[in-house]
Amino acid sequence: MKTYRVGILGATGTVGQRFVQLLQGHPQFEITALAASERSAGKTYAEACAWKLSGDIPESVGILEVQPIEPPLDCDIVFSGLPSNVAREAEAAFARAGYPVVTNSSCYRMDEDIPLLIPEINADHLGLIPIQQEKRGFGTGFIVTNPNCAICSFAPPLAALHRKFGVEAVMVTTMQAISGAGYPGVSSMDIADNVLPYIAGEEPKVETEAQKILGSFNGHAVEKADFTVSAQCFRVDVIDGHTASVRVKLSKTSTLEDVIEAMREFPSLGLYSSPEHFIEVLEEPSRPQPRLDRDRGKGMTITVGRLFPDNIFDYRFVGMSHNTVRGAAGAAILNAELLVEKGLI
Ligand code: NAP
Repeated sequence: MKTYRVGILGATGTVGQRFVQLLQGHPQFEITALAASERSAGKTYAEACAWKLSGDIPESVGILEVQPIEPPLDCDIVFSGLPSNVAREAEAAFARAGYPVVTNSSCYRMDEDIPLLIPEINADHLGLIPIQQEKRGFGTGFIVTNPNCAICSFAPPLAALHRKFGVEAVMVTTMQAISGAGYPGVSSMDIADNVLPYIAGEEPKVETEAQKILGSFNGHAVEKADFTVSAQCFRVDVIDGHTASVRVKLSKTSTLEDVIEAMREFPSLGLYSSPEHFIEVLEEPSRPQPRLDRDRGKGMTITVGRLFPDNIFDYRFVGMSHNTVRGAAGAAILNAELLVEKGLI
C-alpha cells in the first residue's frame, strides 16, 4: 500500500491533536509536517502543544518543528484544523500550490464548487473537484470539506430516511460538547453546572449544511435537498460527543420497523477508518449517551436511539456522534482515504 506524507495545519489545536492521535499507525498516511500560529512556529511540536488527549505525544511527532501556515510544507496532503478566519486564505494558498486540502474549517463548506462530504452519503460530490480547479485556477490542488460537528450526529440518519421516504422538514435541538469550542474554549465558570443556549454562528450552519450533503450532483453542481431545518444549539457540560434531538416529517408514510431498517442497513464503506456500522440504532430507552456511546466504531459510528413516532412530526429520534472524531479529524481522514481510493490523490 502506497504511503502519503501528510501535513496538519492547526496541529496544536483540539482538532489538530486528534489528527495526530488518529494518524498513529495509519497504513496510508504518515505525518511529516505540522503548522500552527506564530506563537508555535519554530518550536518543536512537544514544546508548542498543550496536549489534552490521553497518552503521550507520539515521539516521532513531538520532535517535528512547527511551521507557519504557508506553503511549501514537506507533504503530499494537507489536513486543516484552522479557525475559519485564517483558513480561507491559507487553504487556498495550499490548493493553488498543488496540495489536496482536506479541511474541517467552515469557510468553504457552502461554496458551490467545494464538496461538503460525508463519504458514505455523497461520495459522488467529488465530481465538483475538476470544476473547482478550473474556476479557481488551482491546477492539481483542491479543497474538500467535512461538515460541522453537530451535523454529523443527525445528517446520517436523515440521509437514510431521505433516500427511502423523502424528508420534508426537520426540527433539531443540539447538545454540544465542550471540546467543540476548541481549547481553551468556554470558561469553566460558564459551563460547569450549566447549559448555554447560544453557540456563536452555529444555528445557521446546522440549518443549511444537511441540504447540501443530501443534495444530488447533476454533473455540474449540487442541487440541494428541498427540506427546511429549524435548529437550536446548546453547549452542555460534556467533554466529547454531540447529541441531537430530532423531529422529522417525511414525504411518504412508513412504519417504525421500516424507519429502523433504513438506518441500520445504510452501508458503511470498507475504508481503513470506516466503522463496521455507519449508524447503530439502540433500543435501550436510556441511550444514546455521550460517555457510553461516543467511542462506538472508534468514534466513527453514529448512534441513534429514542426512535419513535411523533405526535406532531412523523418520527423523533436522538442522534449522537463523537465531535472531534466523526465530526472533525476522523471525518477528514476518511475523506482523504476516499480521495486515495478514487485516484484523486
Ligand atoms: P483550537 O483548539 O482553537 O485550535 C486552533 C488551531 O489553529 C491551533 O493549532 C492554533 O495554533 C491555530 N491557529 C489559531 N490562530 C491561528 C492563526 N492566526 N494563524 C495560524 N494558526 C492559527 O480550535 P479547534 O477546535 O481545533 O478547531 C479548529 C477548526 O476546526 C475550526 O475551524 C473549527 O470550527 C473546526 N472544527 C472543530 C471541531 C471541534 O469539535 N473542536 C469540530 C469540527 C470542526 P496555536 O496553538 O499556535 O495558537
